Amino acid sequence: MRASFRIGRVAGVPVGVNWSVLVIFLLIAWGLSANQFPRSYPDRPTWAYVLAGLSAAVVFFVGLLAHEVSHAVVAKRNGIEVEGITLWLFGGVAELRGEARDPGAELRIAGVGPLVSLIIGVVFGGIAVLLVLADVHGLWLGALAWLAGINILLAVFNVLPAAPLDGGRLLRAAVWKATGDRTRASVVAARAGWILGVLLIGLGLWQFLRGAGFGGLWLALIGWFLIGAAGLEERQARTGSALRGIRVADVMTPQPQTASAEMTVADFVDHYLFAYRHSALPLTEDGRPVGLVTLDRVRGVAADRRAATTLAEVACRADQLVLASPDEQLTDLLPRLSGCADGRALVVTDQRLVGIVSPSDISRAVQRGTLRGQATAGRH
Ligand SMILES: [Zn+2]
Repeated sequence: MRASFRIGRVAGVPVGVNWSVLVIFLLIAWGLSANQFPRSYPDRPTWAYVLAGLSAAVVFFVGLLAHEVSHAVVAKRNGIEVEGITLWLFGGVAELRGEARDPGAELRIAGVGPLVSLIIGVVFGGIAVLLVLADVHGLWLGALAWLAGINILLAVFNVLPAAPLDGGRLLRAAVWKATGDRTRASVVAARAGWILGVLLIGLGLWQFLRGAGFGGLWLALIGWFLIGAAGLEERQARTGSALRGIRVADVMTPQPQTASAEMTVADFVDHYLFAYRHSALPLTEDGRPVGLVTLDRVRGVAADRRAATTLAEVACRADQLVLASPDEQLTDLLPRLSGCADGRALVVTDQRLVGIVSPSDISRAVQRGTLRGQATAGRH
């Protein structure tokens, strides 16, 4: 999930927001201030409903952020780097670089999120109960009660044992621990995710047909998302098992040809293109990668503009590059590949370019890994 804008860092992890959060934020604020609060607490001024609705929606998203930050912090403690946290349409995602090394780490990383949501819900619920005991009633009590309910609901929904939910990770940890087979565990969790997705779509459509309106469609939409994400996880698990134990250095093209960022496109086309065997060209400065230009991008420059355009102008910039180290597991690199360079990564040691990994390097490795897996299976 791509962040549309960054809002800062929490616990050292960059936090971003996708524009789709705005939709949910407005739906929640509107639902509370235009429907739920006026129904439960009539005869208040409109501004009071709006203020309570907006406040509750803001606090809800802070709670969601706390849930994701807890995943990120525990992942870091278990030796996994965290790319960032993004809030979007279906809540939050903490993007981890790589996977848990053992079932225990998986359990801790996945379990802490729902635990945090549960604690937040219980704390708000406790405050609400204290207010009732002190005979304080009104709109703010309503907001607290809603926050308590929604956070507890979030905790419960997230522990449903189905990937990609946290509960799916817990299920995977359990199956992994019981069988010692990470791939099988991932496939079981992904299949459970598929089943939950189908159930949610069925339930949502049934509710919609019975007149529940938007709530039913929303449930169906979540189910649809779960099915897609579960399918992706199953494919990743199978690819991951074919690639287990393979390092970046094993598949990369070492010491690729490079060019200077200042070279013009015309110069490159006239003097280098025909001798060049690869589909992307790293740009370096004193051995350090500063960009990557794909031949597709070079071809995209009109012939009459080539002399006036430098390679740097059509390249992926340094901050858009995916960097890897030679000793890194290929399976840890895969989730990071995306975006600007069409799935390529530059391999660096001490910031100096030592190789490049392209999608065809990876698919060759997958084919070899699958063959190797079949050979191993055949020996049993
Ligand atoms: Zn979570």
